Amino acid sequence: MNLIDGKLISQQIKDELKEKTALLKEKGIEVTLAVILVGEDPASQVYVRNKKKACEYIGYRSLSYELPAETTQEELLKLIDELNGRKDVDGILVQMPLPKQIDEKAVIDAISPSKDVDGFHPMNVGALCIGEEGFVSCTPAGVIQLLKRGLPADYDISGKECVIVGRSNIVGKPMALLMLRENATVTVAHSRTKNLEEVCKKADILIAAVGKAGMITKDHVKEGAVVIDVGINRNEEGKLCGDVVFDEVSQIASAITPVPGGVGPMTIAMLMNNCYEAALMHNKNV
Ligand code: NDP
Repeated sequence: MNLIDGKLISQQIKDELKEKTALLKEKGIEVTLAVILVGEDPASQVYVRNKKKACEYIGYRSLSYELPAETTQEELLKLIDELNGRKDVDGILVQMPLPKQIDEKAVIDAISPSKDVDGFHPMNVGALCIGEEGFVSCTPAGVIQLLKRGLPADYDISGKECVIVGRSNIVGKPMALLMLRENATVTVAHSRTKNLEEVCKKADILIAAVGKAGMITKDHVKEGAVVIDVGINRNEEGKLCGDVVFDEVSQIASAITPVPGGVGPMTIAMLMNNCYEAALMHNKNV
């Protein structure tokens, strides 16, 4: 069984970006990410800190906006508008979730698609859907990198049966579109799917993105399948775990991602990659 090491692969991606960023700097281009955090949610504070740390490691400039929990939607939209107009800002990231007085959709729609490094804007989602260039949601983009870099070099996604469990806008749906782009045959399962075990057992590549610990057992997995666990949950002892029962599924899978250390670190690496792409796009003529 091959343990797909997301920590290692994300480090490789960050190191590649670090090298490319140094070359951009020689041309006078500085990649800049603006990070906005509203309120003091501890998990969000950790995510934001990790994103800023990754920027520092690679050599990006990060601008930090920490706004009070009672910030109004109007105030936040005004800041986004200002950042949209700034030539020295390549990417804008608003950490979700937002306090309840702010409509997340209005915020996502307000970010200029060319600075939407999270890949959530409808223009970028639409571009992915019709196979045009645009920013791709970071977690599913990270899964593709895990498959391409974490499996034997001769492993070909093309023609494989892929089952994705979960159909959210940020993981399941873009994941399905990306796997289609890789020429897999894609099935998307969700809470109304009948006979989930049977559906999952068809998969050569099974991607679990539900958010329920212990959801995917050995009864859902075909012998030799590749299993990617996107879920981030806490078990009864408060320990981080995925959606997949790792101990039993790892006995029959040909390759599997652990939690933590699988998909998680890839999300930030792909965010950093999107920032780099944004800077290239904004400096086409340099
Ligand atoms: P959502 O809650 O938005 O979506 C969950 C999906 O799972 C829904 O489509 C839902 O179906 C489906 N589902 C729920 N129960 C079942 C069931 N019993 N059988 C089959 N499908 C079911 O979650 P997200 O997509 O945002 O996140 C999924 C997981 O991935 C979470 O654990 C999250 O923490 C993690 N995550 C990890 C990231 C990382 O960096 N590693 C980044 C983002 C998310 P329906 O649509 O019918 O309700």
